[in-house]
Amino acid sequence: AKEQGGNRYQLYTAEMKSTDFERMELEGHLRKAIEREEFELYFQPKLHLHSSGISGMEVLIRWHNPQRGLISPATFIPLAEETGLIIPIGAWVLRHACEQAVNWQQAGHAPVRMAVNLSPRQFLSPDLIATVADSLQETGLDPKFLELEITESTLMQNTEKTLNTLRRLKEMGIRISIDDFGTGYSSLSYLKRFPFDMLKIDQAFVRDIAHDRKDAEIVAAIISLAHSLDLDVVAEGVETEEQLAFLRAHGCDEIQGYLFHRPMPAREFERVLLDRTE
Ligand code: C2E
Ligand code: CA
Ligand code: CA
Ligand code: CA
Repeated sequence: AKEQGGNRYQLYTAEMKSTDFERMELEGHLRKAIEREEFELYFQPKLHLHSSGISGMEVLIRWHNPQRGLISPATFIPLAEETGLIIPIGAWVLRHACEQAVNWQQAGHAPVRMAVNLSPRQFLSPDLIATVADSLQETGLDPKFLELEITESTLMQNTEKTLNTLRRLKEMGIRISIDDFGTGYSSLSYLKRFPFDMLKIDQAFVRDIAHDRKDAEIVAAIISLAHSLDLDVVAEGVETEEQLAFLRAHGCDEIQGYLFHRPMPAREFERVLLDRTE
C-alpha cells in the first residue's frame, strides 16, 4: 500500500500517527544517507585552559538531507541507535575522522587529538575493536592521536564486557574520555576500575556555575575528584567569561565551547590550525 502514489499520505494518516510516519520516513532516508554522501564531519577545538592552545578536537556529525535540510545529531543519532544504523554510520565517522587527522598531519599541522563519540550500541558491538583497528590501519593514524568519548551511562551497562573492551582499546594506545560526566549513575566505583584518561563535565553543570552555588560546588568537586584519580578534566559548553574564570580558578585543564569556537567544517578548522600561535 505504501507505494500507491497519491493515496500514500492518506493511507498513513488514516492508520497511524504522523509521528510514526515521520519516523519511518526519516529512517528510510537515514538508511540511504551514507551512500548518498549526505553526512559531513564538523570539528570543535578543545583548548588548554592555561595557554589557550589547541589540545584536540571533537568530531561532530552533521546530516544534510536534501528534503529537510540540516538535521541535528540530537534528532537522528537516537534513531540510528534504535535501528542499529549507528553501526555503519559510526564506522563511517571513525574512518573519516582518522583520515582527516592524517591529512592535516601530512599537510604539516602539528598533530592534535581527534575525539570521536561512541554511542552505547557502537561501544557494545562485537565489531567495535575490529572497526577501530581497521580505521587506524587503513589511514595510518598513530593511535595516540585517537580519543574515544564514551558516555557515563554507556559505561554502566554490562560492566565485565565494558572493562574488557576498554582494556583492549587502551592496549591499542587509544585515549578514552568519559563524556557527559555527572548525568549518569551515582556509583563512582567504576572511576577507579576503568582505565580512563579524561573526564568531560557535562554542559548542564557548566551552564550555571557563575550563578548557581550548587552547580559551582558540583563542578569544583568533580574537578578535584578527577585530579585525585589522575584524570584530566575538560569542561564542555563554555560560553561566557564568567564560566571561564570559574573553571580557571578551580584548575580545570581544558575547555570546549562557543566562547572560543563553534563546531565547524574541515575547511574552516584548517584556518584555526593555521592561525594558532604555539
Ligand atoms: P555531545 O557529545 O555531548 O557533544 C557536545 C554537543 O554540545 C555538540 O552538539 C556541540 O555542538 C555542542 N556544544 C559545543 N559547545 C557548546 C556551547 O558552548 N554551548 C552549547 N549550548 N552547546 C555546545 P551536537 O553537535 O548537536 O551533537 C549532539 C550530540 O549528538 C552529541 O553530544 C553526541 O551525543 C551526538 N553525536 C554527535 N556526533 C556524533 C557522532 O559522530 N557519533 C555519535 N555516536 N554521536 C554523535
Ligand atoms: Ca562528546
Ligand atoms: Ca558531552
Ligand atoms: Ca551530551
